[in-house]
Amino acid sequence: MRHPQSSRGLAFARARRAARDWVDPYRPVGKLYPAVCQKCGATEWQGRWRWDDPLPDLPRVTCPACERIRDGVPAHVLELTGALPPWWNEVRGLIGNVERAEVVEHPLERVMRVEVRDDRVLVPTTGMHIARRLVAAIVRRFRRQVRLQFGEQSTTIDWAESR
Ligand SMILES: [Zn+2]
Repeated sequence: MRHPQSSRGLAFARARRAARDWVDPYRPVGKLYPAVCQKCGATEWQGRWRWDDPLPDLPRVTCPACERIRDGVPAHVLELTGALPPWWNEVRGLIGNVERAEVVEHPLERVMRVEVRDDRVLVPTTGMHIARRLVAAIVRRFRRQVRLQFGEQSTTIDWAESR
């Protein structure tokens, strides 16, 4: 018999592998010239994006995160469903904290416009890694109160009715 905890562990491991192996179509490999994003000011140097002050005369480009935001094309979407409403304010705060911590180190990992619908909240992200970190933070806080369903394009986090 499989313990529920271990199947959640397996699902996490699979999601981790998927995030690691994921190739961002918005992020061409092998483009190594330095550049600065004209929208957010992030700078690219040897394929890595940072918040360093740009050198003068860097080529001005649009970074992959700003391109995704412009196009409305998330890398991943968290779908928060079920008995979320009583927790939404807290979850919203959690999302903000994770994003602030993540984006300092990784300018391309951002939360896009959160969409609150009648039966769910959609949290689109510009990267896979921040999506995984958000899931981990929510699970750390809510543990067995939530059920997870990992997909390639989205991850569903479903809140159980509290008894
Ligand atoms: Zn940008």
